[in-house]
Amino acid sequence: MTAYAPLKEYLEKRDFSRTPEPRGSHHWEPEEGPVFVIHEHQASTHHFDFRLQAGDVLKCWAIPKGPSTDPSERRLAVPTEDHPLEYAEFEGVIPEEEYGGGTVLVWDAGPYRSLKTDDEGNVVPVKPQIDAGHLTIWLQGEKLTGGYALTRTSGGDDERWILVKMDDEEADARRNPVSTEPESVLSGRTLREVAKAGEDGEVPGEGTGHEEEGS
Ligand code: MN
Repeated sequence: MTAYAPLKEYLEKRDFSRTPEPRGSHHWEPEEGPVFVIHEHQASTHHFDFRLQAGDVLKCWAIPKGPSTDPSERRLAVPTEDHPLEYAEFEGVIPEEEYGGGTVLVWDAGPYRSLKTDDEGNVVPVKPQIDAGHLTIWLQGEKLTGGYALTRTSGGDDERWILVKMDDEEADARRNPVSTEPESVLSGRTLREVAKAGEDGEVPGEGTGHEEEGS
C-alpha cells in the first residue's frame, strides 16, 4: 500500500501496531470548517503542539512554552511533520519506546479563520500564507480566542517560527492559561489523569468521556 504522500513522514515515524495514534483515514471531516487544536504533550520534554487544518492535513508546530495571550510574548514554534485530520481528536498515551512516547492531551481546540485578505478583499487560505512564511488567523477556542500571528524566522534544516498573540480585544497580559487552565477541553482531564487512564489500559477514542450510555 502506498502511503498517502502528505502523511508519508508521519506514517514512517510510527509503528501502528504499537501506538494508539490514528493512521489517517482521510474520511474525518470537521463539522464547522477548518479547525485548530493545541495538544499538551508530556514526552521526553514537556511541550505544546499547535496544529492547524490546511486542506486535508494538520500543519504542526511544537511550541516548548505553549501559546501566550500576551502580545509582548514571543513563543518559539518549531515545525513538525503534517498530521492526519483525525489527530485533532487524539488524546491518550503513546508507549514510552515509540516516537513521541508520552501523554497527549487536547489542551484547546475549535474553529479558526484566516485574517489575511488579498488586494481584492478575498480571504487568503492558510496554506499559501504558510508557504510565504507569515500567517495571521483568528482562533475560536475554549481557552484561546482572537488573532494570532505565526512568522518564520529561519528556514532550511533549522526552520523556526515565532507565535505571537495579536494586539486585539482578546489580548490579555494577565492571563496565563497554559498554567492556570490545564484540563483537556475534550475530556476535562489533566495530563496526570490521562496518563493514569493509559496505565489502566484505556484505548484512546474508546471511553474518553463523550460517548456514554444510550447516545
Ligand atoms: Mn509533540
